[in-house]
Amino acid sequence: MAVHCPFLNEYKVFHLINANSVIYRCELGKVLLKQKDLNKKWACGGCIVPWILAGRPCRYLKPRKDFILRGSSQTWFTCELLDISLERPHEFCDAHCQHYIPV
Ligand code: SF4
Ligand code: SF4
Repeated sequence: MAVHCPFLNEYKVFHLINANSVIYRCELGKVLLKQKDLNKKWACGGCIVPWILAGRPCRYLKPRKDFILRGSSQTWFTCELLDISLERPHEFCDAHCQHYIPV
């Protein structure tokens, strides 16, 4: 995850003898993540949410994330105007929709 995600927060910092250990929380998926999880594909490493949000998305577009089991997740978006779900909103919104209004 090279782009900052607004849903990623520090949840708790453990002060160890030689270093600090940080537990994070994905506020979108409501799950706790270890530092080493952040680069994993099922967590932040494979998540398109920060990329979509960084690209001036439509104001009606809302990200959704579900961590079904630890080690797996599902990411999708919903359009609050058209009441549809989108896996890759950049493909549909940019190419096919005339209702785009930037945030
Ligand atoms: S899993 Fe996705 S939405 Fe959640 S904090 Fe990581 S990058 Fe953000
Ligand atoms: S561009 Fe269209 S489809 Fe995409 S979120 Fe906006 S209103 Fe919905």
